[in-house]
Amino acid sequence: MVSHGQESPQFTRQDTLRGSITPERAWWDLIHYDLSMNVNPQDSSMYGMNKIRYKVLKGMQVMQLDLQAPMRIEQVMQNGQKLSVRQDGNAWFVQLVQQQEPGSLQTIEVQYGGKPKVSKNPPWSGGVTWKKDSKGNPLIATSCQGDGASLWWPCKDHMYDEPDSMMLRVTVPQSLVEVSNGRLRQVESHADGTKTYHWAVTNPINNYGVNVNIGDYVHFSEVYSGEKGPLDCHYYVLRENLEKAKQQFKEVPRMLKAFEHWFGPYPFYEDSYKQVEVPYLGMEHQSSVTYGNKYRNGYLGRDLSGTGWGLKFDFIIVHESGHEWFANNITYKDIADMWIHESFTAYSENLFVEFYHGKKAGSEYVIGTRQNILNDRPLIGMYNVNYGGSGDMYYKGANMLHTLRQVVDNDDKWRKVLRGMNKDFYHQTVTSAQIENYLSSKTGLNLVPFFNQYLRTVQVPELEYWMEGKILHFRWSNCVENFNLPVKVLINGKEKWLKPVANNWKQISLPSNVTELKVDPNFYVTQEKLH
Ligand SMILES: [Zn+2]
Repeated sequence: MVSHGQESPQFTRQDTLRGSITPERAWWDLIHYDLSMNVNPQDSSMYGMNKIRYKVLKGMQVMQLDLQAPMRIEQVMQNGQKLSVRQDGNAWFVQLVQQQEPGSLQTIEVQYGGKPKVSKNPPWSGGVTWKKDSKGNPLIATSCQGDGASLWWPCKDHMYDEPDSMMLRVTVPQSLVEVSNGRLRQVESHADGTKTYHWAVTNPINNYGVNVNIGDYVHFSEVYSGEKGPLDCHYYVLRENLEKAKQQFKEVPRMLKAFEHWFGPYPFYEDSYKQVEVPYLGMEHQSSVTYGNKYRNGYLGRDLSGTGWGLKFDFIIVHESGHEWFANNITYKDIADMWIHESFTAYSENLFVEFYHGKKAGSEYVIGTRQNILNDRPLIGMYNVNYGGSGDMYYKGANMLHTLRQVVDNDDKWRKVLRGMNKDFYHQTVTSAQIENYLSSKTGLNLVPFFNQYLRTVQVPELEYWMEGKILHFRWSNCVENFNLPVKVLINGKEKWLKPVANNWKQISLPSNVTELKVDPNFYVTQEKLH
């Protein structure tokens, strides 16, 4: 996703049902979704069936499913038997009849339908967007990060659990093309003037990554020769934009080359890579990244860094595709830890710039994006109530990681850590704690105070110092207890590492009088000369 503000929290029982791993969720493990859906552009309705295959972890007879009004669950069946369902707002509790034996595999069939919520401001407010292209053909797209996939289909709407695979079978009027995640297995024509597109996803997929896009699309493709072999890249764009897309999407192989270098192989070769044009800015839908950046460089033609480097690439292709590694490969369990998606992905923008324009350019870009930081709320949100942290998770997060890279002070090692994350957490859902511990362990640094500072406070650490001839006195202030970030400074133009600690003064003796001290601008800290 791309940055956007958030309102202040007021939590309800519904937020807890949505945001926590309730007992009615915890006892079963998602194996497979087989989602069928008829989409009717005439009346903006969707209806169909989700066959949910799951493994019983612990015997329990009540299952929580999620589907948000005005969509409704019509009927739930297991082994030919109709089950009773109790609705509690957006949560639906299914009373199972058949004994749920631990270790057994079961399937439940959920029939649903209605007119799903229309998104007021996609992709930041979830729902379905019903638009028309310039020729008057329907252009329809779903987007639901945060608000949840249960806006438009029934599922276990919590990020901790992903199915191992998924089928999407979407029926649309025959003049339109439907594009979802994974690979197109079959297009089936029906006598009633509709077609069903069958898409197969063979890797784990998170809820909000699932998407349906419908339009008068034309298709072109290429094969990218990547680290794991040939990667099929498919592009679906509006007929009227074909020529523009053929030019602009040259960014895709450039993006893949840069990101495979930094992060390791694209995580979904089996499911292919796609760009799909949509009537909103864009979203990181897994193996079908959606695109609405108007075939322009920058963020709708703007440079978020103010340095000029932001106009050297298509922000949406680069940013949303960066999420294939950080969001779709490594996925937060709880949206409170959404920084794992956005900080690394915002950070990936500068690694892309660095790959093509050099280290100085990359640094200028990420430092330039500091102008977007508000320090209004911490990066980590609140757990178990579906509440994310500050929009600072983008550019403050990116600058936090850029700062960490300075401390690691070894580019090979840093790249190995980034690639190692994508290997060791391959196709997993994770917590912030797991990522923080991993980075401490792989860098060999105790990063507990570092992450407490940047993820859990809004304070920017300040290097306080004063000089007494050749003696330099320094310490960290405006920081958490034990904050001990080593920092590179320029003293009279000469580089030197200092190891200040929180609140307690340290001193060093220098060969000559200190006339000027400047913190290396790559560190996201402030400095203050006292006396
Ligand atoms: Zn994003």
